[in-house]
Amino acid sequence: MTVLLSAAALLAVSLLHGGKLYRQARELSGTWVLLLGLIVLLILGYLTYATTVLDRGASAVELLIALIFLGGSCYVWMVNTISQTVVDKMTRLAALERHRANHDDLTALPKRSFFMTYLNDAIRGRERDRPKQAAVIMMDLDRFKFINDTMGHYYGDILLKEVALRLHRAIRRTDMLARLGGDEFGVLIDPVADSFHVSEIAQHIVSALEEPFAVEGQPVDVGISVGIAWFPDHGADSVSLLKRAKASLLEAKRTQANIVTYHKDMASRDPDQLNILSELRGDIEQDQLVVHYQPQLEVKTGKICSVEALVRWPHPRLGLLSPDEFIPLAEENGLINHLNYWVIDIVLLQLSQWEADQIGLPISTNVSALNLQDKKFLDYLITGIEKTSALPRRLKLEITESALMHESNEALTVIDTLTRLGVKFSIDDFGTGYSSFDYLKKFPVEEIKIDKSFVMNLKKEGDDSLIIRSTIDLAHKMGRSVVAEGVESKDAFKLLRRWGCDKVQGFYVSQPLDIDGLNNLLNKWKPKRPS
Ligand code: C2E
Ligand code: CA
Ligand code: CA
Repeated sequence: MTVLLSAAALLAVSLLHGGKLYRQARELSGTWVLLLGLIVLLILGYLTYATTVLDRGASAVELLIALIFLGGSCYVWMVNTISQTVVDKMTRLAALERHRANHDDLTALPKRSFFMTYLNDAIRGRERDRPKQAAVIMMDLDRFKFINDTMGHYYGDILLKEVALRLHRAIRRTDMLARLGGDEFGVLIDPVADSFHVSEIAQHIVSALEEPFAVEGQPVDVGISVGIAWFPDHGADSVSLLKRAKASLLEAKRTQANIVTYHKDMASRDPDQLNILSELRGDIEQDQLVVHYQPQLEVKTGKICSVEALVRWPHPRLGLLSPDEFIPLAEENGLINHLNYWVIDIVLLQLSQWEADQIGLPISTNVSALNLQDKKFLDYLITGIEKTSALPRRLKLEITESALMHESNEALTVIDTLTRLGVKFSIDDFGTGYSSFDYLKKFPVEEIKIDKSFVMNLKKEGDDSLIIRSTIDLAHKMGRSVVAEGVESKDAFKLLRRWGCDKVQGFYVSQPLDIDGLNNLLNKWKPKRPS
């Protein structure tokens, strides 16, 4: 009886194990089926033999044979169990491998390919389940390239991990967040209640990145641009959905809006959006860009004392594009150095032309933070100055605070070397960044430009007036001069004059003009002296 019971238990356990093993190892090989068959056969054989023998009253030899059978079954059962452990391990390894292949090492988020597969599955689900909608959000960090280039990839990676964490907290648990590549992320919002719902999530994402990150003990500001496309309205398959979300994202970058949802007017711009970079590269190479000049007025004398060079891109289909429409894209994609080299060529030529014509008007030109990290920039500028015989003291480079923020040695070397040559520097858009007067102590910057956002709606009293007056005071105490940009009215000009601002620039004086327009203005200019 004991023999029978143990055999039955053994058979049950083996069948259970064997079944599990077979299910798991089905994809691995047919050998497992054979092994399972063998186990069942052996135990069944033992069972039949034992029953027959026991029926007849067993002899010692027969019992020995039964025991050998039992031993054999135990052995096969052991093999079965060991195999099961091995298969378990292999299954776990395969799952890990699949996870690795589908997920990004740095952030542990799903990769683009996995996101696309997931999106396709979701779309198939939606097709069966109309009229429910889904939405794809595509995001790209602002200024990441600059941070990565200036602080180094190690800190860039730390930042990306932090960003991934914050994004994860900003979305719902049911939404799928993926790293689509570099500093580009995607979210699938599925299911979607209504458009308000998606805007709310997009807004959460933007807010999540508003607080500066602490990298290397320094506060680092990274914004994010967000593009949204809807299924099925904007695309019926994963590829077109992602393309539309990308077009919205580029539009967000171009217009510097945080969040843009795809709209049908963008359809005609789709190819432009995506090709715009290669078109820009081509047009720079073929000298298709133009430089306009905006006069700066010396407040004391009312004379035009310098001009700022501002680039424009006459696009064959889109018309005259302002720098805000293509510079952020150029900065994100490393084209900015190329673009600024081109502008510098034009500016140096214009300086030497004016020198020859005895006009001697200084030009300020905008350089990107990335220029100061670019080892070739310094050589390029020095060679350009030598080639054109432009006077270095007539050239002023406008840099934003972010360029000085990381106090990199490269930037300091570039600024020091050029200052020794006579080139001047100005801090642009002052007041929009960290507005630290510390930079003035550390860098030989001769001028600051108060950002137009403080100036455009200037009143006698109020925050803007307070900020401007104290900025002028402090800058003067540190021996620096002050330019106010965005001066649009006579009233603003009069206030700035009263507060001791040195120079003004803005529509009140003149719009930026092409070179002919500027030459005309210079010829007929009568010094402005407000009563
Ligand atoms: P920015 O350096 O702050 O240049 C001043 C901007 O304010 C110019 O815009 C100018 O047209 C505009 N502006 C001037 N006066 C007034 C005014 O009274 N009211 C208002 N509302 N606006 C006024 P623009 O030409 O569109 O340039 C935008 C930005 O693009 C510039 O801002 C600068 O950061 C960048 N940029 C322009 N040219 C270049 C360049 O050659 N290289 C680089 N890296 N950036 C450039
Ligand atoms: Ca500027
Ligand atoms: Ca400015």
